[in-house]
Amino acid sequence: MNQTTAPAEFLGHPKGLFVCFLTEMWERFAFYGMKALLLLYLVKHHGFDDADGYILLGTYAGLAYALPLLGGMLADRYLGMRKAVLFGGALLVLGQLGMAMTGTPAQDGIRDEFAIQLMYASLALIAVGVGFLKPNISTIVGRLYAENDARRDSAFSIFYMGINVGAFMSSLIVGYVGETYGWGYGFALGGIMMGLGLVQFVLGQKHLLGQAEPANPALLTQPAFAGLSREWLIYITALIGVVAVWQVLQVRIDFAPLNALLGGHEVTLTELVAVVAGGLLYAWFTWLMFSGIDAIARGKMIMLLVLTTVSALFWGLYEMTYGPWVTMAERAMDRTTFGIEWTAGQTTAIGALCVIAMSPLFAWLWPRLDKAGMNPGYPAKFAWALVFCGGSFGVLAYAAANPGSDGLVSLWWMILAYVVLVLGEMVLSPIGLAAVTALSIPRVVSTMMGAWFLFSAFGEMIAGRLATAAAITPAADGSISAAQALAVYGPFFTQMMWIGLAAGVLMFIASPLLNRLTR
Ligand code: GLN
Repeated sequence: MNQTTAPAEFLGHPKGLFVCFLTEMWERFAFYGMKALLLLYLVKHHGFDDADGYILLGTYAGLAYALPLLGGMLADRYLGMRKAVLFGGALLVLGQLGMAMTGTPAQDGIRDEFAIQLMYASLALIAVGVGFLKPNISTIVGRLYAENDARRDSAFSIFYMGINVGAFMSSLIVGYVGETYGWGYGFALGGIMMGLGLVQFVLGQKHLLGQAEPANPALLTQPAFAGLSREWLIYITALIGVVAVWQVLQVRIDFAPLNALLGGHEVTLTELVAVVAGGLLYAWFTWLMFSGIDAIARGKMIMLLVLTTVSALFWGLYEMTYGPWVTMAERAMDRTTFGIEWTAGQTTAIGALCVIAMSPLFAWLWPRLDKAGMNPGYPAKFAWALVFCGGSFGVLAYAAANPGSDGLVSLWWMILAYVVLVLGEMVLSPIGLAAVTALSIPRVVSTMMGAWFLFSAFGEMIAGRLATAAAITPAADGSISAAQALAVYGPFFTQMMWIGLAAGVLMFIASPLLNRLTR
């Protein structure tokens, strides 16, 4: 960074950090508020069955984590981060407002197909919008600091806090508004706040110190096709992309052998594309391993790929918090604490609150463990993450098997489950981001960061798929009793617990082997 005058600071950080913090906070506000409502909305408003709801939630959220790979590349090469954030933000606002047009609720099997199409189109706008905004707002944060600036790690901790403050507020507020006053009001609120976040970004852009501008502005204004500048060509192609995603989201492939494997729930085109993308990534990686890199770099890269792959399983369990955890809260939970009856969607706020509470604790812990020579390596941390994750499902499985005298599970069990789960998140999510920057060879670090999020995308889809095993068919009058629900959730959560614990144990066993790779 070439600075002749010192940039304006706030709390010892460049002011631009707080511009990014607030933008990402409102982006996550919109994203997680919507996610807290989405499954309930699909099932209760549009008459989706559980399995189709879980699968759509998984494929949509999966796309929202996969597209940042493209959004990051486009910004690096052409748009620059600032323009990408503005464009992505605009798509997000439109998508949220589109979601707000909810149409009429399904009745007697008759669904409002027009409103449902509008919803798919809105989900596509949001997924593409996240693709443009999320990777690039994070990149700007990194660019506000010189290469060797010691404040960089704390900047990212502050930024991760913004993510979770946004998620926490929106689960509480959007969850409440959406479930109490009407789904559309919740979605619209997310859109309005995202819009205000963008206004804030525009007003504050001078604090980005020119670090988010296109690498080669001339390239953007050059006519590229049919008299259109390259910049406009990118925007128009992205809009065509939205139309494509809108359609792809709806395609299910009826292929008997796969159906049998997936419990009768047809595979989605999105999942097939994801499998191909994963295959291509491994192929590219293999090629990279043989392209003349030295043994030490190769060892680190292999370790990184293993960690990234394992993260998909972690997220595959974790993201069920927006699926079966929410439906369990809806159907079989006494959600009253401190005299307040929380809505089912609001329970997702607990996770973000735990992250906010635990972040300072872990920031304090790692340097201390390091000094004592007791800081576990990356593989052991990931092993712990899987064990905690499995443990959290164990807590809920136990609770489901032991409901109170009213037949309902107490919200306190869910709070405990979230505490255990987020212990896992703390030793995997921020650690994974750090691992990408520490283990990757420099020339592919952006791609590896994109790959890290691509595996979050796989996690979302895995979560949607796994959750179909917890699908519940309502009685003829559309109701689901708490007892009926718990009879499904109990055994299902027990299975998920074993998956997490077994994967954790395997990771512990593999840990010394993996550590040898980096020595
Ligand atoms: N909760 C974090 C975010 O929203 C990380 C999620 C993930 O990597 N899957 O940014």
